[in-house]
Amino acid sequence: MLNIKYELVSEKKAKPDWDNLGFGKYFTDHMFIMDYDAGQGWHDARIVPYQNLSLDPACMVFHYAQEMFEGLKAYRTPDGSIQLFRPDKNIERMNNTNTRLCIPHLDPNDVLDALKAIVNVEKDWVPVKEGTSLYIRPFIIATDVQLGVHPSKSYKFIIIMSPVGAYYAEGIKPVKIFVETEYVRAVKGGTGFAKVGGNYACSLIGQEKAERLGYSQVLWLDGIEHKYIDEVGAMNVFFVIDGKVVTPALDEGNILPGVTRASCIEILKKYGYTVEERKLSLAEVVDAYKAGKLNEAFGTGTAAVVSPMGALDTETEKMVINNGEIGKVAQKLYDTLTGIQWGRLPDEFGWTVKVN
Ligand SMILES: *Cc1c(COP(=O)(O)O)cnc(C)c1O
Repeated sequence: MLNIKYELVSEKKAKPDWDNLGFGKYFTDHMFIMDYDAGQGWHDARIVPYQNLSLDPACMVFHYAQEMFEGLKAYRTPDGSIQLFRPDKNIERMNNTNTRLCIPHLDPNDVLDALKAIVNVEKDWVPVKEGTSLYIRPFIIATDVQLGVHPSKSYKFIIIMSPVGAYYAEGIKPVKIFVETEYVRAVKGGTGFAKVGGNYACSLIGQEKAERLGYSQVLWLDGIEHKYIDEVGAMNVFFVIDGKVVTPALDEGNILPGVTRASCIEILKKYGYTVEERKLSLAEVVDAYKAGKLNEAFGTGTAAVVSPMGALDTETEKMVINNGEIGKVAQKLYDTLTGIQWGRLPDEFGWTVKVN
């Protein structure tokens, strides 16, 4: 067991309006912190009141972006208990990201202990209403005070949490997607497979451009040929072509290995769908559309679970997918995943972990 020191608040914050939580706007009463120093390893695990950090402006994270993060949720089940969804997957990915950024690994058992401990302290922040959850944001920052370009020798691992509203408060609405051919999100050999803030900083300009043109997200193409499909916004992407489900393969390291993606593939296989993980070109999608064989397209991620595309536009092609409505495959995945996550369906895969 990770030895955690507790310094609890004497007075809790007023809770937000549970009907208007939005995403990442409110933060709980406490946070988890653990420090790393070379020679000492990770030490001083503690849960303390949520507070500002005081950091020297020369801390490496501010200059060279040696930072990683994760994202998962705690869900309230019908019997009032609280559970996590496949936290082992997030923890494994966390260490894969750490390897890429030269950040020291965390002991997976310590991270799970920390997640359970902080969620237990904040039980009354796990919302009850349909579709709501407590979003958990673990992250690590490099804290060496120096401007030389080297991996830092000191870090902070922090977990903050935010109650979030139902992503689809007004029902699932397919979104309009713009195919980005100028900017790229990731390249082979880069950091696309790692969950790092820097990837997001580089994607903002494409997102802004898409919004300016009236779209809600960007479809990212590969960084070398600008031909193959990578991801949609900050989600993994699936297409249903002639009844088969196709998603870009992970093997080139430019796609974030989503926990939702992996879970969707397992569910689809269990229910007898053909799933292909392979290279998928934009041209193949456009051809399928023209042949009337593009049945569905959707993104997957922890925040929205499944986000159907109603329209997919390139500079020259305007594609309306499934009449702008959610398709059968996306609906099946959404119902199955949310059913398991919120404990309304039996967890036949053994994916959920109780925290209390
Ligand atoms: C986090 C993330 C995803 C989705 O991962 P999940 O584990 O399913 O939440 C997909 N793409 C990118 C770029 C991400 O950062």
